[in-house]
Amino acid sequence: MSVKRLMCPGCSAPLTPPEGRSQFFCQFCGATVIVPQEFPPSVTEPKDETLHPLPSLDRIAIKREGDRLTLRWQWRTWIAFVLIPFALFWNGLLLIMTIGIVSTFDLWPLLFLSLFYGVGLFLLYFCAALLVNGTTITVERGVIAVTHGPLPWKTPATVPVDDIEQFYVKEKIQRGKDNTSVQYSLELIRKSGVNVTLLSGEYDADIPRTIERLLETHLNIADRPVKGEFTG
Ligand SMILES: [Zn+2]
Repeated sequence: MSVKRLMCPGCSAPLTPPEGRSQFFCQFCGATVIVPQEFPPSVTEPKDETLHPLPSLDRIAIKREGDRLTLRWQWRTWIAFVLIPFALFWNGLLLIMTIGIVSTFDLWPLLFLSLFYGVGLFLLYFCAALLVNGTTITVERGVIAVTHGPLPWKTPATVPVDDIEQFYVKEKIQRGKDNTSVQYSLELIRKSGVNVTLLSGEYDADIPRTIERLLETHLNIADRPVKGEFTG
């Protein structure tokens, strides 16, 4: 028995449409695929054997209206479950120390603690952002824009679509004394050669890679290897 498949209009991958759906997203490039009425048509062979399904397509809300593309996802990851107890512990300890110092009426040590208050506040803000924030990438009127919210967060400058040479995912390894941390970012190379970081501080490569593929498909940019690119 042959499996009835549909060819993706974006990347030519052979697809099996989900049961009872007239439209779905290609698991390889994220293109919107419309199931023809006369489906199942004839079987198609894969054009590219090296295609891999997009790793976190289900986390990203994709909206296409004409030329406009909106990609949105929430930050919520397992990191929050490590950071929240740590932030509470840190601030709890600070509170106990502050009460101890205030009760001695000798307030100068509070000055010494100010740095720790700063770290504590940053941790709380970071945890809150991890829980409520999301990122939206919009390609509209020839410009690509990245915004984070609702809690304010640093965003990159917008880039004209015509000025984009290539997208690529970069791996940043930080070796500490006891542990090594790896972070991933989505980078963009402008035609002038200038590099723009679109997304940074990601703890796995899934979101940046998926976004890279979705943007390349939408903007019709062929994926080319870039020096220093993460391909693992
Ligand atoms: Zn596709």
